[in-house]
Amino acid sequence: MKKRGHCCKVCGEYKANEKFSGKDHAAHICKICAALPPEKHAEGMTLIRLVNLPWRLSKEQLSWLKKRMKDRRDAVRALATEQYEMRFPPRIEPDETKNDLEEDFDFYMDEETDIE
Ligand SMILES: [Zn+2]
Repeated sequence: MKKRGHCCKVCGEYKANEKFSGKDHAAHICKICAALPPEKHAEGMTLIRLVNLPWRLSKEQLSWLKKRMKDRRDAVRALATEQYEMRFPPRIEPDETKNDLEEDFDFYMDEETDIE
């Protein structure tokens, strides 16, 4: 069965072609989201980007994520914090003497989650 549709860039939902209209179709923004103000578009796209972050972040992604944790939008801030804490659990405070090992530590976390 062939699926005809797109993933909306704003809400992240997969929707049929008819749920997209005109120029918004090209932009892959569904009709519902197209009716939202532009700042909502940006927020939605930011949230999707947060959800889609890889487990192992590049330096750029990490600094982007940290900035989002200070975002003025509550939803963005909450999700960014969640994403960050998934990777860097807050209860484990890297003490100053171990700062150099911080990167190795992330490795261990990764391996552990692979074992299911
Ligand atoms: Zn949408």
